[in-house]
Amino acid sequence: MSSRIAEIRVPPQCREMIRAGALVAVNHSGGKDSQSMTILLSRIVPRAQLVAVHAPPRGVGWEGAGPHAAAPLIMAPVSSGKTLLDRVEERGMWPSSQARWCTSDFKRTPIERELRRYLNLNPRFGNRLVNCLGIRRDESAARAKRVAWRRNQRLSVAGREAFDWLPIFDLSTEDVFLVIRAAGQTPHWAYAAGMSRLSCSFCIMASRADLRRAAELHPKLYRQYVEIERRIGHTLSPSGVSLPELTGISPSGSGDGADAMDLGRLRSRPAAARRPLARRNDLKSPCPESGAAQGSG
Ligand code: SF4
Repeated sequence: MSSRIAEIRVPPQCREMIRAGALVAVNHSGGKDSQSMTILLSRIVPRAQLVAVHAPPRGVGWEGAGPHAAAPLIMAPVSSGKTLLDRVEERGMWPSSQARWCTSDFKRTPIERELRRYLNLNPRFGNRLVNCLGIRRDESAARAKRVAWRRNQRLSVAGREAFDWLPIFDLSTEDVFLVIRAAGQTPHWAYAAGMSRLSCSFCIMASRADLRRAAELHPKLYRQYVEIERRIGHTLSPSGVSLPELTGISPSGSGDGADAMDLGRLRSRPAAARRPLARRNDLKSPCPESGAAQGSG
């Protein structure tokens, strides 16, 4: 493996914080980016300072997705006990890139709650936190503009000093798989099955190809999503196009999208939010695969 990949660039202030005993938390979705980030961090962070924190996407995730054993694990469930689909039905609409409450309610809030609790329970970290996210510049133009090290203002209160760090910011997708293979690990099975990302099985911003493959791999969950689209009259996709139309897969399994939505019954997204289908493959999930999407997009 090239030294560029094997050695992640550590900002001087980050190095200082690690040396001073800060808690280093990996926001972990169970996806490839989280996995490679954990492998690389476990080489430079003392084990007693490294944890993985995981917000399980209850009912909408992938079987077998979860952090690997390279670091102790903190689970961060949603305190209400509700699932994403429960909230969609309550609200009568799906989240969108403008109203991304799925990320904040189901990932960021529970993860930050658990990190605050863990720091309070473990004074040895001196209320210092390095919050690691698996965002990579290659993922999208918006992500390429992110800063790899910056103060987390939301968490830097009540005597806490918290920074967000993007340790694998410069790695390509190929690099990420290389790190995993070189460590003797395997990525989640869904990649080999054709998924390009591993977050919610059906993400509001997923590409058409990923939605289609997820529908094939998760037919029962797909049916549930299609039924909810119908019940609430609102599409998962910001394009305003129903899932059966997008994927070409009928929820009853005919595979031809023949019973695609009666679009007349759907409440369309606002015109400004509708996107031409041809652009959908350019879209990226606002959640990094590292799991929490803290303030990210
Ligand atoms: S993966 Fe997509 S649908 Fe799931 S929480 Fe993130 S943005 Fe929302």
